[in-house]
Amino acid sequence: MDTPEPLIDNFGRQVTYVRVSVTDRCDFRCVYCMSEEMTFLPKSEVLSLEELEVLVRNLVACGVTKVRLTGGEPLVRPGVVGLVQKIRTLPGLRELCMTTNGGRLQDLAEPLKKAGLDRLNVSLDSLDEGRFHELTRTGRLGKVLAGINAAQNAGFEHTKLNAVVMRGRNDDEILPLVEYALAQDLDLSFIEEMPLGVITEHDRGEAFFSSDEIRTVIRSQYVLESAADATGGPSRYYRVPGYDSRIGFISPHSHNFCGDCNRVRVTTEGQLLLCLGNEHSVDLRAVLRQGSQESASVDARVQQALRDSMAIKPEKHHFNLDDEPQILRFMSVTGG
Ligand code: SAM
Ligand code: SF4
Repeated sequence: MDTPEPLIDNFGRQVTYVRVSVTDRCDFRCVYCMSEEMTFLPKSEVLSLEELEVLVRNLVACGVTKVRLTGGEPLVRPGVVGLVQKIRTLPGLRELCMTTNGGRLQDLAEPLKKAGLDRLNVSLDSLDEGRFHELTRTGRLGKVLAGINAAQNAGFEHTKLNAVVMRGRNDDEILPLVEYALAQDLDLSFIEEMPLGVITEHDRGEAFFSSDEIRTVIRSQYVLESAADATGGPSRYYRVPGYDSRIGFISPHSHNFCGDCNRVRVTTEGQLLLCLGNEHSVDLRAVLRQGSQESASVDARVQQALRDSMAIKPEKHHFNLDDEPQILRFMSVTGG
């Protein structure tokens, strides 16, 4: 087969990074991500592991070089280690990463490393046991910290913590999180809460805590120097002199990062999302399931659909905290 054309949208941006939600299910119920009573998708609507593999294979064939497995919680999906192993063998794939809540890493860090996973992001919004439980509703801080240790012992490098900061809920944890990251040689990204899905526990507008404010808090204690190295992602990175850790800020509200967007997402149901903040999507599950199941036909159909999708990748997102959420999808379905 000829080498497929790369995925380039109408604004000249090439898609080289895909985030794949391998499950909408999760063992936590973080207050900004899920409601307490979640209804999960019926199994028949969720892509099988084989279907996920076919999609990723074709995305990589079309020039995607970085894949992130996420969810929901990827580590609750049975067979996820095998999926990592299969994806890792794809020619042309430069980096295979995973975003996890860390609750199961104690057991799975080593198998994931052996299967070829390159890098981990672990979400951590609090270092106080009671607070952690309050924010995740079901999570146990000790397990997550043990999971992070297990990842380091298994040989994972540049593990990154992700923290969502909410005013009045955990904004007093900014400095302890920085201190922990520096001491453990971990990278740390602070994320502004995004209006994805309807939640009831707090008002997102009132809880909004901007990246600029977070930097001010950190600068009350540490020197922050802008780091030159970019990852092609929406994070702006800084360093504290004398430490290796990078401190990043993901600011969908206060800084628009759409201009150099190189990414798409695949939801648990196989919707290709062209933008996190818009509804533009293509039903790849239908492309996979309808028609000949012969491997070459499926590949040809999927690659055509991927190329066609480039015509509808929006120029930018429009998040507005003052309005009702325009995006009713939860991050757990979208693949955060
Ligand atoms: N379960 C895994 C985890 O928590 O890392 C992976 C999926 S989770 C949806 C991915 C990331 O999205 C997490 O770092 C989480 O904090 C973030 N997230 C979820 N809902 C969000 C929201 N409404 N705004 C900003 N970040 C959110
Ligand atoms: Fe689960 Fe991750 Fe969402 Fe928390 S942020 S509820 S761990 S999917």
